[in-house]
Amino acid sequence: AAKRAGGNGYTLFESRMDADAHAQLSLQAELRHAAERGELMLYYQPKIAGRGGQIHSVEALLRWRHPRRGLIGPAEFIPLAERFGFIAQVGQWVVEETCRQMHEWSAQGVHIRVAINLSAQQLRDADLAGKIGRAIRCYDIAPDRLLCEITESAAMEDVESTQRVFDGLARIGIFLSIDDFGTGFSSLGYLRRLPAKQLKIDRSFVQDLETSPDARAIVDAVVQLAHALGLKVVAEGVETEAQRAILVALGSDELQGYLFARPMPAMDLLDWMLDRTPVGDIDFAPSVIDA
Ligand code: C2E
Ligand code: MG
Ligand code: MG
Ligand code: MG
Repeated sequence: AAKRAGGNGYTLFESRMDADAHAQLSLQAELRHAAERGELMLYYQPKIAGRGGQIHSVEALLRWRHPRRGLIGPAEFIPLAERFGFIAQVGQWVVEETCRQMHEWSAQGVHIRVAINLSAQQLRDADLAGKIGRAIRCYDIAPDRLLCEITESAAMEDVESTQRVFDGLARIGIFLSIDDFGTGFSSLGYLRRLPAKQLKIDRSFVQDLETSPDARAIVDAVVQLAHALGLKVVAEGVETEAQRAILVALGSDELQGYLFARPMPAMDLLDWMLDRTPVGDIDFAPSVIDA
């Protein structure tokens, strides 16, 4: 009934669908060439130690600097890249660019760990560990300085290939992290089999910490579970001082969120690390930047 309302309501609805489909099609055609045109870019967001407040690592987050639309976030174009079959190409660009940047930072005396995000489809590539291994060797990056984040739900999509890729990456010494934990449905038995070192608590729980005893109980339980399994815990999406205090009290090893820093270009990150005004007792790890 809603579709027919107002005479040409239906037509309007249809043409809007059409326009959407068109926009998506042209966007995917442009995305195909975004990497070679130099339009992809990595932003970096620090992870802060819960106790001590040092910065040991940053997460690389993909951006697309579209010539007309401006900055487009990964939530908008990663699904397109997956659907139209060029996530492997985009993913490979992320790996190479991260290694190149780490190499450059090393030369500048900045020895920081960097985490990249892998999508569900990348896990289906049997040679993924091989590709990442070749990139870190090419740029002379120690394997334990690269982390790979995979969302809990991506890890659950294809349990067998996830296990294979994780094992392959762990074998060459790369650290693995389960992202957005608490939103998927992984079994404890499965979690135990994955050679992950880190578990990231999803932002939705962090958001509710101050108001919901349930969210607090869940975060408490997740931290205990992770620690019992020998995993470090990172809380994502920390925006308030109250959230920070609760998370530190609950034992979260690292924190990440707008309270500390938004994702930023590599150049800004260096400036931020070198001359930011300390928030609380935050400082970067002495080992991160050469004296
Ligand atoms: P994620 O890996 O869970 O990354 C965290 C997202 O939350 C990022 O969004 C980050 O900008 C945002 N964020 C960080 N702190 C806060 C906060 O305090 N408050 C709020 N509201 N948001 C915060 P972004 O950069 O838009 O990325 C979205 C997702 O896209 C990522 O979620 C990740 O799953 C995916 N992604 C990003 N880069 C890549 C990539 O290179 N490859 C693949 N496959 N996926 C990527
Ligand atoms: Mg992530
Ligand atoms: Mg996350
Ligand atoms: Mg998330």
